[in-house]
Amino acid sequence: MNANDNPLLDFTGLPRFDRIAPEHVTPAIERLLAQARATVERVATSAAPPDWDGVAAPIAHALDRLDRAWTAVRHMNAVVSTPALREAYNGNLPAVTAFYADLGQDERLYGKYKAIAASPAFAAFDGAQRRVIENELRDFRLGGAELPADRKARFKAVQEELAGLSAKFDDNVLDATNAWAHYVEDPAGLAGVPADVVAQARADAAAEGRSGHKLTLRAPCYLPVMQYADDRALRARMHRAYSTLASDLGADPALDNTALIERILALRAEEAELLGFANFAEVSLVPKMAAAPAEVLAFVRDLARRARPFAERDYAELTDFARTALGIADLQAWDLAYASEQLRQQRYDFSEQEVKRYFREDRVLAGLFALVETIYGVAIAEARAPVWHPDVRFYDIRDRDGGHVGQFYLDLYAREGKQSGAWMDDAVNRRRDGERIRHPVAFLTCNFAPPAEVDGRRQPALFTHREVVTLFHEFGHGLHLLLTRVDVPGVSGIEGVEWDAVELPSQIMENWCWEWEVLQSMTAHVDTGEPLPRALFDRMRAAKNFQSGLATVRQIEFALFDMLLHTEYVPGRPGPYPDARAVLAAARREVAVVPRPDYDRFMHAFGHIFAGGYAAGYYSYKWAEVLSADAYSLFEEVGVLSPVAGARFRDEVLARGGSRPALESFVAFRGREPQIDALLRHNGMTTSS
Ligand code: ZN
Repeated sequence: MNANDNPLLDFTGLPRFDRIAPEHVTPAIERLLAQARATVERVATSAAPPDWDGVAAPIAHALDRLDRAWTAVRHMNAVVSTPALREAYNGNLPAVTAFYADLGQDERLYGKYKAIAASPAFAAFDGAQRRVIENELRDFRLGGAELPADRKARFKAVQEELAGLSAKFDDNVLDATNAWAHYVEDPAGLAGVPADVVAQARADAAAEGRSGHKLTLRAPCYLPVMQYADDRALRARMHRAYSTLASDLGADPALDNTALIERILALRAEEAELLGFANFAEVSLVPKMAAAPAEVLAFVRDLARRARPFAERDYAELTDFARTALGIADLQAWDLAYASEQLRQQRYDFSEQEVKRYFREDRVLAGLFALVETIYGVAIAEARAPVWHPDVRFYDIRDRDGGHVGQFYLDLYAREGKQSGAWMDDAVNRRRDGERIRHPVAFLTCNFAPPAEVDGRRQPALFTHREVVTLFHEFGHGLHLLLTRVDVPGVSGIEGVEWDAVELPSQIMENWCWEWEVLQSMTAHVDTGEPLPRALFDRMRAAKNFQSGLATVRQIEFALFDMLLHTEYVPGRPGPYPDARAVLAAARREVAVVPRPDYDRFMHAFGHIFAGGYAAGYYSYKWAEVLSADAYSLFEEVGVLSPVAGARFRDEVLARGGSRPALESFVAFRGREPQIDALLRHNGMTTSS
């Protein structure tokens, strides 16, 4: 194929999502890898004294094209996966991983960066450039550049195998999710389930030429069934299927992640050992804010201690209520969401479904954009771009003076072939290209229910308040990428930001979903057009921390499991735990309040730590929540819609990206170091509440 005909090699503008096809992947990636290798060789063997323009700049340029093309492929494989695309992605993954592994341990380049850091010019670098060089030196050490040749080869093999296993882990979860369905013929069997969910289930069955209703384990179906279905046996069936996805108890042994989990952990332990660390958690923490596993464990356990009394109170209330009001004497895992929702309705006199009627997609988006425009002084407008699916929309962000800031894609609805969850990814990072600035572009992906037809009428998509919170969260990640003013590769936007600080810009956004000034104008009842009534809002606020103790200890259980897994367990070695499941059991014994059924294999679908970047890093959510709650408390002090506070957050946090340590950015914004008080107060976990 002529390179000019390959849309993956067109870097003149936005990715050509309307033209990219599986057959383009291999030729494009092979060509870009060859070009990147040639650049690395040229730079590594150059006799010129190493400096920024001779080393850092050309390497960044070569990697940028490879990154952009590979990101487009990875993104499409995540949101419009087909067997051919998955094959193309998985087929090229080893070569891409091998390239980065080689790069990370290239001693010639490592030597050049060391020389730059030691040169007199280094002192004259700006802060962003200095940080890039320091990060490079750190990453070379972590990439194995200091290892002897035989260990380098093994290190590289470990990284390649890990990349393949992570991809396989995700594939198994997606395949197991897609393979499962349960058909309910009689609508009476779905009593309690909201009408729009039932309508979608009917449409999904009809699409297969069947009568009745098709239930799936995708979030827009699974979650409401667990929360609302009166049929206890149906909930038990769905819960079991969901909790055993891709496990030894799953439907298809070929999709069992058990062996993958053990292998991934063994390889991570080996990687740590090769690098001279005591365990993988130590490796994971090097580029993070937290200094050592002991500090993280102390943080997690301190929070567990503070949250436990609240969690125990929550659970006692729930079991009481289930027994007396619902006639459920033995509260089980598949009753928790249902009983919680019933108790919430009884105590606060509203249902999440009632609230959902007010959150029409068009109003929610308009409200989100208006908030961001007010606080950060930008303007958002819909624009056109090639997209990968007709449901995807595209937007421009400009500064108030009309200057271009960035662009983003919005892909909101769940569908087959799309990975579950919600996330933000960088399509393009901000860069200086000669005199020109290249502006950043974000992917914002959610898995909400698409617009449904109810009684023969097409409704706008409706979001639960929880989904609105998710949308705001991901949009916060997007703003971190889009509002950066750094154009140095490696520390622009979210690049180079410590992982345990990365959730600050996203979690802070969640707070505005609880402000009357914001909700008032972003709601309109789907039938009447009325905005959210103040009385209903007040009940939502009152219910905000309903069972927050249980939610907190659940997050702590995951974080503790993750840290113990990567500090105290090595498969096949003598130690306190025979396998990963035993580690999970230990974490639960220590902090959990709610018993889980024996079949619970949530670990087998825990992509965050086995396929994503959260290994020995899941604590980051709570760690960053300390930062985000404390940062938001400044808005609470000066006005939640204050453009002054907004400008300061934009200038000191969002604009800075990874160009300086996250703690410095935080202190510059808040005027002092972070304190945990705001987090406890926001979660209702203070003794006075
Ligand atoms: Zn996030």
